[in-house]
Amino acid sequence: MRPVVPRVLLGVRRSVAPSKCLVPRHHALTTQRQGLLSTCRAFSATARRRERAPESATEIAAAEEGEEEEERKWSTPLAKQLARAIQATGPVPLASFMRMCLTADIGGYYTGAIEDGRDQFGLKGDFVTSPEISQVFGELIGVWFVTEWLAQGRQGKGVELIEVGPGRGTLMDDILRTIHSFPAMANSIDAIYMVEASPKLRVAQRNLLCGDDASWTESKVGYHSVCKYGSIPIVWTDTIKSIPIAPEKMPLIIAHEFFDALPIHAFQCVSVPATQDDPPLETDKSSPSTRTTQPTLQWREFLVSPSPPGSTHASLNTPPSQSRATPPPDFQLTLAQAPTRHSLYLPESSPRYRALRSRVGDGALLEICPDAALYASDFAARIGGSAQHPKQKPSGAALILDYGPGDGSIPTNSLRGIRLHERVSPFAEPGLTDLSADVDFEGVAEAAVRASEGVELHGPVDQGTFLEVMGIRQRVETLIQAAKQRGDGSGAGGDEFARNIEMAWERLVDRGPGGMGKVYKAMAILPEGEGKRKPVGFGGDVVN
Ligand code: SAH
Repeated sequence: MRPVVPRVLLGVRRSVAPSKCLVPRHHALTTQRQGLLSTCRAFSATARRRERAPESATEIAAAEEGEEEEERKWSTPLAKQLARAIQATGPVPLASFMRMCLTADIGGYYTGAIEDGRDQFGLKGDFVTSPEISQVFGELIGVWFVTEWLAQGRQGKGVELIEVGPGRGTLMDDILRTIHSFPAMANSIDAIYMVEASPKLRVAQRNLLCGDDASWTESKVGYHSVCKYGSIPIVWTDTIKSIPIAPEKMPLIIAHEFFDALPIHAFQCVSVPATQDDPPLETDKSSPSTRTTQPTLQWREFLVSPSPPGSTHASLNTPPSQSRATPPPDFQLTLAQAPTRHSLYLPESSPRYRALRSRVGDGALLEICPDAALYASDFAARIGGSAQHPKQKPSGAALILDYGPGDGSIPTNSLRGIRLHERVSPFAEPGLTDLSADVDFEGVAEAAVRASEGVELHGPVDQGTFLEVMGIRQRVETLIQAAKQRGDGSGAGGDEFARNIEMAWERLVDRGPGGMGKVYKAMAILPEGEGKRKPVGFGGDVVN
């Protein structure tokens, strides 16, 4: 009889489905911008309807409702709700649209739109992530945290493991299993925190980490249960702000494919003719607007509004490769004609953005993710202390793995929609389409050092380099030997199984164009040490 190999020895999970960012960056902003004029037409039609002499408010509302229903079938309930909101308030910032699409209470991609029996991850889902491809990924991240714990003096208690955006819980499971083989460190863990917006994924994570149908209790902070590894308390929260901060704690934070799911604002620099009034900056509301004689460069925000009724993929210029899997987009991107609240202050918030305006000028594009800065600041304050939360001795580490430029450039045109492993328009079927954008690693680093004097940054380095230095080759070779000897436990040949393990490894470290080893990057936030110690994977050695 073939011995049954525990799942954790198999080493491979999925090897076929593409990851979130297999495909090159798309052109949503440039192509959708061409819909600007037709969007304006859609808005004036609504305005005309409102001009009719009202007979009674209810009659008008009913008539408008009827007209709307007749005129337009929205692709999802969330699309209808968004369109109603936009009709009332005007076009919304891309970040508001993205936030609703991903985490709206009703019908957000992560919070409820996906029908029962289907989830976001894996072959039958929309995308696959590194921890779902191979257990080795999470094991090496577990080892990375162990090396940090050792290097920072083997703190005996007060260690907290925090994961933001934990998906199915697979990564945390692999990390905990690995740490469990280092009992002194495992015993130092006081609590595990999981920051998760999705109620369904919270249940999946609990079942995996605490046992099927384990119970949990609710408090003001979130949901509490007990982890199957060492009975450590585990707490689920909606946001990292709910996790208490204390100076004696050593937070070990992991963010894998979380920052790319945070909403972005997008801007374009335009040259404004001399005849227009130059608006005062938001920081200087008291000063009167000035008449300029020279054209000025100003940022304009990309906004989202409904696409014109009867739009087709062709009329909205959806790239043909993104037109197959969805009906025509309900929404489109337009460039605001005048400054918005966000265009007045966000592009002024960093010298990098101001330099881009001076360097590129008219036509420069810019994406800014304020939530990424908030999370990075929070991580930094927990590790290094801050004015609000002083910490005598900085301790802990944050590891951020995601995709985005590694050369300090600011992301542009990086918003993407993903359905069933294909690139689709980000404006089609809101709530059913995954949305993500490149991470501005340099911006994350800037926010972290601004938030705390007690931290330093390492990276970003390519995922391929990081995993190889962490010993992926050796770990995979061990698993391959085990697989060859034992098979996969389900009757399949050991050689075939060993090949699958090898393919998964190749995929994680692939540095070819679009390969995960090159596109994904790792960045670390550590206690400030004047750069004297480099962490493993970022040019440093293991410190015992
Ligand atoms: N880290 C996992 C999952 C990545 S997908 C993996 O690599 O497999 C993004 C995860 O972040 C999901 O769990 C999603 O529900 C969660 N998420 C997205 N936006 C969030 C938000 N604003 N707050 C909390 N969780 C969020």
